[in-house]
Amino acid sequence: MTVAVVGGGISGLVVAWRLRSRGRDAVLLETTSRLGGAVGTRAQRGFLLETGPNSFLDREPAMRELASALNLEHRIRAADGAAKRRYVYTRGKLRSVPASPPAFLKSDILPFGAKLRVMGELFSGRAAPGVDESLADFGRRHLGATATRVLLDAVQTGIFAGDVEKLSVGATFPPLVKLEREHRSLLLGAIQAQKAQKARAKALPAGSTGPKLSGALSTFEGGLGTLIDALGTALGDAARTGATVEGLTRGDDGWRLAVSERGQRSELKASSVVLAAPAYVTRGLLEPLDAELAARVGGIDYAPIAVVHLGFDAGTTPAPDGFGFLVPPMEKRRLLGAIHASTVFPFRVEAGRVLYTCMVGGATRPDLVALDEAELVALAREELKALAGVTATPTLTEVFRWKRGIPQYNLGHLERMDGVDRALTRLPGLHLAGNAYKGVGLNDCIRNGLALADALVDAGA
Ligand SMILES: Cc1cc2nc3c(=O)[nH]c(=O)nc-3n(C[C@H](O)[C@H](O)[C@H](O)COP(=O)(O)OP(=O)(O)OC[C@H]3O[C@@H](n4cnc5c(N)ncnc54)[C@H](O)[C@@H]3O)c2cc1C
Repeated sequence: MTVAVVGGGISGLVVAWRLRSRGRDAVLLETTSRLGGAVGTRAQRGFLLETGPNSFLDREPAMRELASALNLEHRIRAADGAAKRRYVYTRGKLRSVPASPPAFLKSDILPFGAKLRVMGELFSGRAAPGVDESLADFGRRHLGATATRVLLDAVQTGIFAGDVEKLSVGATFPPLVKLEREHRSLLLGAIQAQKAQKARAKALPAGSTGPKLSGALSTFEGGLGTLIDALGTALGDAARTGATVEGLTRGDDGWRLAVSERGQRSELKASSVVLAAPAYVTRGLLEPLDAELAARVGGIDYAPIAVVHLGFDAGTTPAPDGFGFLVPPMEKRRLLGAIHASTVFPFRVEAGRVLYTCMVGGATRPDLVALDEAELVALAREELKALAGVTATPTLTEVFRWKRGIPQYNLGHLERMDGVDRALTRLPGLHLAGNAYKGVGLNDCIRNGLALADALVDAGA
C-alpha cells in the first residue's frame, strides 16, 4: 500500500521524492494549485522574484545529495563576492558587521563599553543544567545586554523574525548551547573548533580535493523554484495539486484520508501517512485521533511576514554593496531588513537593474503584515529611504504575504517536541515533517525529510 504525504512544500516533496526513488509507492497531496509552499520563483519583467526564501548555505550534505540526484548540481549558483559584507542598522546608520575578531575590535558596530563586555565572554559561566533559556537571557549572560539587542537579535530576526525574549536558545541555536556545554565560553569554543578544523584539513591525504561543499550562500540558476520544478517533474503524477486532505482516520488495515480534489470527494488508503502541512493544519487533522498530540502541535506559534520586492531600472539607483542589512527590533523601525538581491545573485535581474527584497512584520510587528499591498510598498520605500538612502522610484513592486510565515521555537519547544515524539508512538504509521518541528531552514527541511523517508523505507513501512 502507498505512503500518503500531506503538503507539497519542500519538506513533503523531499519525503515523497525519496520514498519513490527508493522504490516505495508514495503519493503527495497539495492543497494549492502549485508545489513548493513557501518556496517559489516568479519571473517578472526582467526580475526573478522569490516568493519566500532567497538562499541556502552550501554546507549541508543532504542538499548537495538531493541536487546531485536531481541533476541540478551544475546549476547551483554561489553568491557574488560583492555580497560578503553584511550590515546592521544601529545608532542611526548602517554599520558593517565585522568578519573577524581583529575587525570586531576596530569596528563601530557596538559602543566601546559593549565591545569590552563581549570580550568578557571569555569568563562566562555555564547555565544550570536542564534550563530552557531564552535566546535573550543566553545572549546577556555571554555577550552583554547591548550586543544581545544589536547583534544577536539582528541574527535571529534574519532567520526567525521572532521575539528574542521568547525564542528558546536550545531550540533555535543548538550549536551555541553545545559550545557552552563543552567549552563554557563561546569564544574559547569557537577558537578550539577552528583549531580542530585546521588540524583536520592538514590531516587530509596529499592530493585530496577537500570537501565538496563550498559553504557559500547559494541558490540555483533560475532561483530556488528550480529545485521545486525538478522535484515536481521527478514525482510526475504522484504529486497531486488542488488536493486538500480534510480528514484522517485509522482502520484495521491502515490509514484513510478524506481528500477533496477539484470539487470531488474521495478516500485514499495508505499504509503510512506523513503530515508535512503547517502545524495549524496538522493540528486539525490530529484532533479526532489524539487530542493531546493535536494540542501540542497546535500550540506552535507562527510569525507573519511580508516580502516586498522593489525593482529599479538600470541607472536609476546605485547597486548596493553587500548581502543586505538587518534591523534589530530595538530600533523600532518598520523593516526587519532588506536583501540586496541583485548584488547577491546578479543573474536574477537584467543588466544594471537593482532589486531590493524587503522583509516586514515578524513576531514584533505582526500588525504590519495586515496592511494592503500599496501600503506595504509605501512603507518599504519610506524605510529604504530613511535607512539606506534609496530615493529612486521602483519600476517593479511585488508583495508576497505569509500570514503564518515562520514557526516560532519559543520557550518550551524542546519539551513540546519530546511530548510530540512520545505521543506519535501511540499512532503507528503516522509521522510529522515540516519546518514547525526540528529546523526552519531549507537545509533542515531537506535533511529531516530525507532522514524520515529513509527511516520509513528501512523499517519496511
Ligand atoms: C519569507 C520567508 C523567507 C525565508 N527565507 C529563508 C531563506 O532565505 N533560507 C532558508 O533556508 N529558509 C528560509 N525560510 C524558511 C523556509 O522557506 C521554510 O521553512 C520552508 O520552505 C518550509 O517548508 P515546508 O514544506 O516545511 O512548509 P510549507 O512551505 O509551509 O509547505 C506546507 C504545504 O502544505 C500545504 N497544505 C496545507 N494544508 C494542506 C492540506 N489540508 N492538504 C494538503 N496540503 C496542505 C500548503 O499549501 C503548503 O504547500 C523562509 C521562509 C519565509 C516564509
